[in-house]
Amino acid sequence: MTSPIWHPFTQHALFPAMRPVVSAEGAWLLDEDGRQVFDAISSWWVVTHGHCHPRIVQAIRDQAGRLDQVIFAGHTHEPAREFADGILKMVPAGLSRVFFSDSGSTSVEVALKMALGHFRHLGSPRHRVVVMQGSYHGDTVGTMSAGERGSFTQPYEPLLFGVDRIPFPEPGAEQATLDSLERFARDPTTAALLIEPLVLGAGGMRFYQPTILAEMAAICARHGVLLIADEVMTGWGRTGRFLACDHAGVAPDILCLSKGITGGHLPLAVTLCREEIFQSHWSTDRSRTFFHSSSYTANPIACAAACANLQIWRDEPVQARIDAVAAEQAEGAMRLEGHPGLTSVRCMGTILAAEIGAGGADYMADTGPALMRFFAERDLLIRPLGRTVYLLPPYCSTGAELRACHDAMIEAADVFG
Ligand code: PLP
Repeated sequence: MTSPIWHPFTQHALFPAMRPVVSAEGAWLLDEDGRQVFDAISSWWVVTHGHCHPRIVQAIRDQAGRLDQVIFAGHTHEPAREFADGILKMVPAGLSRVFFSDSGSTSVEVALKMALGHFRHLGSPRHRVVVMQGSYHGDTVGTMSAGERGSFTQPYEPLLFGVDRIPFPEPGAEQATLDSLERFARDPTTAALLIEPLVLGAGGMRFYQPTILAEMAAICARHGVLLIADEVMTGWGRTGRFLACDHAGVAPDILCLSKGITGGHLPLAVTLCREEIFQSHWSTDRSRTFFHSSSYTANPIACAAACANLQIWRDEPVQARIDAVAAEQAEGAMRLEGHPGLTSVRCMGTILAAEIGAGGADYMADTGPALMRFFAERDLLIRPLGRTVYLLPPYCSTGAELRACHDAMIEAADVFG
């Protein structure tokens, strides 16, 4: 009998069999047949230091035997308090409150609700949200509404709400993005700009310049529009700095973090906000309560994993590992540049991306699944976004491992380019 499991983002008609993975260590997965596979996309961008980092594993073990779960409304616990204090030391000044949830999507939903709640409780409701064309913020109804519409969202259109969209800042056309934002920001009903800073991830690994991010932040500040930075993917060092916002010296009003928060070991997310946003909800009037939760909010075991992750950031040479991966990727990009069949070779921090073949970065192009199989045959977990092939590896990856990925991209370009 085939498995009863319905897998995410998987067309079962094309992928009837899944590879059972039995264990993982560092940047490598081991499957049931004894095959070792290099995890070149950090298992959907979550693994930072490497799989099964011993200190995070130990923290999980210890916490599971002490306090497994407790309702987070009206109660708190040490791992949540320790993490909240620790993360506030790593993010831009001005962020002072930490709201826990369980996934990247919910951290963004929370951000949107905070923004609208804030203006309502101030007595001057604003409801419009501005986003960037081509962005991706998750798969819940709210985050699908905010993200780019297309194949992912088409069947659910009747459920989605409208947002205002500014163009992606194409090189040389950045002013159009800023002008568009300026127009929307002037509207007194605009509450927030929700943005993926510097990298549109699932939208095709497209990069834009820190100066543009800084100018967008300045426009928001001028018009009292809240800047929501969705750093679910870019956070925890992916772009070479702890946050993508750090490249631009931008301090968002609301910040969403998930993916690397537990080093990739357990699901958790946080939405951080400025004090005014918390204060506008602070009242003896119970209708101003922030009405959002999920059953497992701030699960102590996940929080303990996140605390261990912070500790690793404090006392292991994480930035040096990131720098080494970034340097190797930059060198790889130079090798790939100009190779026939590869276009738009680009690199930001630890992320390297390029398009294979002609026809642009069409997610639904059949090349995507074919490329995935091609890489799988070479024991590489690489999951292209259509023709866009990208590497987003754990920070423990070695130069030799990354060079093998670059070689495979060249080989793929020779076959599919
Ligand atoms: N925001 C961004 C920028 C993302 O890249 C993702 C996931 O890829 C999400 C939000 C959604 O996160 P999750 O899949 O954990 O819900």
